Amino acid sequence: MNPRARVLLLNAALGPLDYRVEPGQPVEPGSIVLAPLGPRLLAGVVWEPDAMPSDAEVGDNRLRPLNHVYDLPPLGAPLRRLIEWTAAYYMAPPAAVLRMALASASALDGARSVVEYRTTGAVPPRLTPQRAQALERIAGRQGLVRELATAADVSDGVIRGLVKAGAIEPVEVRIDDAFPSPDPAHAPPALSPEQAAAAARLAAAVEAHAAAPILLDGVTGSGKTEVYFEAVAAAIRSGRQTLVLLPEIALTEPFLKRFADRFGCAPVAWHSDLRQSQRRRAWRAIASGEARVTVGARSALFLPYRDLGLVVVDEAHEASFKQEDGVHYHARDVAVMRGQFEGCPVILASATPAIETRQQVALGRYAEVKLPARFGGATLPTIDAVDLTRDRPDRGRWLAPTLVAALDETIGRGEQALLFLNRRGYAPLTLCRHCGHRFKCPNCTAWMVEHRLTARLACHHCGHVMPPPRACVECGEEGSLVPCGPGVERIADEVAAHFPDARTAIVTSDTLWSPAKAAEFVNRMDAREIDVVIGTQLVTKGYHFPNLTLVGVVDADLGLSGGDLRAAERSFQQIAQVAGRAGRGAKPGRVLVQTHEPDAPVIQALISGDAESFYAAETEARREANAPPFGRFAGIIVSSEDLDEAVATARAIGRAAPSVEGAEVYGPAPAPLAQLRGRHRQRLLVHARRALDVQAVIRAWLAPLTFPKSVRVAVDVDPYNFL
Ligand SMILES: [Zn+2]
Ligand SMILES: [Zn+2]
Repeated sequence: MNPRARVLLLNAALGPLDYRVEPGQPVEPGSIVLAPLGPRLLAGVVWEPDAMPSDAEVGDNRLRPLNHVYDLPPLGAPLRRLIEWTAAYYMAPPAAVLRMALASASALDGARSVVEYRTTGAVPPRLTPQRAQALERIAGRQGLVRELATAADVSDGVIRGLVKAGAIEPVEVRIDDAFPSPDPAHAPPALSPEQAAAAARLAAAVEAHAAAPILLDGVTGSGKTEVYFEAVAAAIRSGRQTLVLLPEIALTEPFLKRFADRFGCAPVAWHSDLRQSQRRRAWRAIASGEARVTVGARSALFLPYRDLGLVVVDEAHEASFKQEDGVHYHARDVAVMRGQFEGCPVILASATPAIETRQQVALGRYAEVKLPARFGGATLPTIDAVDLTRDRPDRGRWLAPTLVAALDETIGRGEQALLFLNRRGYAPLTLCRHCGHRFKCPNCTAWMVEHRLTARLACHHCGHVMPPPRACVECGEEGSLVPCGPGVERIADEVAAHFPDARTAIVTSDTLWSPAKAAEFVNRMDAREIDVVIGTQLVTKGYHFPNLTLVGVVDADLGLSGGDLRAAERSFQQIAQVAGRAGRGAKPGRVLVQTHEPDAPVIQALISGDAESFYAAETEARREANAPPFGRFAGIIVSSEDLDEAVATARAIGRAAPSVEGAEVYGPAPAPLAQLRGRHRQRLLVHARRALDVQAVIRAWLAPLTFPKSVRVAVDVDPYNFL
């Protein structure tokens, strides 16, 4: 046996290290081990030495022994190749990618039960505001003290005090209970002939056990989920595992319900809202192969599935699949790579596929399965523009008379309406009428956004909050502060002013911050306890409300301003998705799009329903600009708490820029969000030919440079954030 093992430790600052294997230690590539590093012990994974070269080779006699080999299945070769590929492509430390695979430290250990806490319903004698907040926010939750404190946004001490007061009690939880097995024969749906044909193609791809990226392109309401569920059924029958990726944690709960209706039990869920014990149980079931179907956010992509037979990326066009900190990966693209390494199909499901994905279909690299009609005889909604230059809202209001009249009719018929505005809070900007002062975040290049529901001003980038001031901080004038522009809370006020009896719900990440809250919203919609939903992009995806017949887009021009190369495409997708919420049942749907530019190509494409010519024009514009998918970008982001240092470092990097054929370097310039969380950010942007190995160019460029310790230099390959 090889007495030496190369180990990638969970420490992003370190390369792989070699250790001595003790006699009897069962070590093979992929083994999960515990190894000494200085005085500490760190978890890591054994790797093939030639796949993970080390520049710090140590002689046999100086090797330290491995401390422990965990009794867990080794990480499979396909996952090891995926980790290597992700690290190389996104220019991240392999250990940072590995951390996403070993995402539950407690899963490695053997403890069988933990003590968690939950509310008893008793009210403590001394109810401080903090205690009241804690009890309100953790009602119905269970978890460790730390987890409850985080959920309630209070200190651990507050939770412990509540335990002492008897308002919270300990519960012993067994954490290795088996998950139920989904049954493919539980409740097969009655599919239309088009759906059945599409489902048969997907199922055949699963049975072929071969890598195959497939775009499932179906209009909103065409029943894409039912169709790919048949591919999931095929994977379950063949004994292999399935991963379904969703763009938002808020979509998990409705998905679990639909899945349970079809397969008789819920799948295994994986997202950031899981308790430590749930994470541990899920991780172990995924690694052992017991978890037949896992549904999760993008981080579920790197988990150690024992035998993956199918990956589904639902709402695959969503920008939220792009991770914006840590490892800057795009989950849609990494999912396709995982399918390549695992030898299994990857289904990208969308009603509005990304231009990048359509291009892969055009090149013949991805197969395409289309669902051109809505399911069950439902028709696509009619879409009309409301020209705000003619059909003006009243002063200080944002809903045009046409839209108000349509709301009136809809509510009067007992149907439901949805108003879409992609702005959280009450007003995006607060200014002083007296001196003109605008309230800006002290840490970021961003306005403080007024939230009336929680009575504070908040920065949406760093989370900085302040109570709404009574007087202007600049001139001291009292009562001079005015909100500018609408957020969803302000639109809700306007709806209440027009229709005092209407029951409204605001749907944003502020109100739907957990899967349980999302489930509650869905149940209230289904029970028709809501007449008008006012929501951000969170409501544009995935939801299916048969009684919702009117959609109003409050400001269709919002996404089009600014220089983002994907602005038009994203606006089109977002409005098409939100429009797709209307008329999904027996009753026809109507969509009103408020705009100052009814002739803009995006608006025209939405009204005419001619998505193809819009996509064709957008694709051509990208080709001419050599923008993705025809060319590529990479950002180098330099940040420091000190502005001068950030600028000086960025300039030094700029001066060292190589001259490479097929690549141009722009900048440095202030990055999108020039100040974020107190750090000043500068960006250099590399624009390159598709075929150029831009990572190699950047690696060679940055390698000889040294930076001050307080400066961070991060690379964002295929950036999505240009604003
Ligand atoms: Zn003032
Ligand atoms: Zn901020």
